[in-house]
Amino acid sequence: MAIKSKYICSDCGREFEISPDIMICPLCSKMQEPNEPLRGILEVHYNSESAVKIETLFPVEKKWFPSLPVGNTPLWKAEHLDIFPNLYLKDDTSNLTGSFKDRASILVAAFAKKHKINEIVLASTGNAGSSMAGIAAACGLKTTIFLPKTAPKAKMIQALQYGAKVISVDGNYDKAFDLSLEYSKKHRLLSRNTAYNPLTIEGKKSVSFELFQQLGKAPDYVFVPVGDGVIISGVYKGFKDLMQFGFIKKMPTVIAVQAEGSAAIHNALKSGTFQVVDSKTIADSIAVDVPRGGYYALKQLQKYQGKSILVSDEEILSAQKNLSEKAGLFAEPAAAASYAGFLKMKNELPVEATIVLLITGTGLKDIDAAMEKIIFPQNTIKSIKEIQ
Ligand SMILES: *Cc1c(COP(=O)(O)O)cnc(C)c1O
Repeated sequence: MAIKSKYICSDCGREFEISPDIMICPLCSKMQEPNEPLRGILEVHYNSESAVKIETLFPVEKKWFPSLPVGNTPLWKAEHLDIFPNLYLKDDTSNLTGSFKDRASILVAAFAKKHKINEIVLASTGNAGSSMAGIAAACGLKTTIFLPKTAPKAKMIQALQYGAKVISVDGNYDKAFDLSLEYSKKHRLLSRNTAYNPLTIEGKKSVSFELFQQLGKAPDYVFVPVGDGVIISGVYKGFKDLMQFGFIKKMPTVIAVQAEGSAAIHNALKSGTFQVVDSKTIADSIAVDVPRGGYYALKQLQKYQGKSILVSDEEILSAQKNLSEKAGLFAEPAAAASYAGFLKMKNELPVEATIVLLITGTGLKDIDAAMEKIIFPQNTIKSIKEIQ
């Protein structure tokens, strides 16, 4: 049995029934200005008089979920990575399509199955698209993806391998986002655009449930790479649900890690307002000019005393190499950003603290970036005598 759930607008507090006909608060979205984060993001709220099981805190009943290796990802200590004794890697590279995005995609797919919808549309910088494409394929659903032409080739290849229809956009992610919404509205298809579809936040919260179950308690610190601000919002949502139903007492300190060249949420946390940035970073999965979940993520960071930190591309690439060399975990640049953020902030952290780094995507998704810190063998040999 699922628990009673409904949508509540995170801006005005109005309540709505959960259905495919509503994605965003119809009243608050009227005040939407171009080039600012989304207004009227809907939050799923649960109601229960009696004790609940964590597994039931989703707005779609379990029977609709495809049986796929998504979530329940490994949490492990990398002994040689650092002296911190309770430093954990939450390894979301091990999801079906290699990224954290699968957590949102599987809930959207379950929702589509429940409501007999057979096509999903979305804009993506790469991972959300390849994730939805893979999970939809495994469920017999169709996917149409609007992808900026600059997306890493491996991510486009992945989506095409899964059989998605890929529309290459002459413009950035923000342009792809707008075009995909126009398209899904025109053809009355289900949008999985991040932040816009409230189930993207709700699906991503599963990581917090798992952290609580794997550690037997809430962690003290969680480092999260942040672009649109939906993963971090999902992390908060999971812990908020756990607090609401009495599983944990205190909100962990969540640290938003952003690239110096794509710092909209970090800047807003400092100044209180959002400015459009002209994003430029090697970590393509966290490069956004207008963070779609910005207002909502900012609200959570402010309410729960979250922190933010910026890392340079050089720091990200070094962290990526380090993580590979010292933990055997090859992560894409955006995913290595959480480790880069930890390295930059670790002097302020208590050594004994339980710290989790979210490692959100595999390194093979962006081999061009990974080539920056390695040297290919210069010569070939025919005999081992030639080895220097
Ligand atoms: C999408 C993504 C992020 C950032 O998530 P947002 O919800 O955009 O903040 C981080 N890392 C990877 C690998 C991603 O694909």
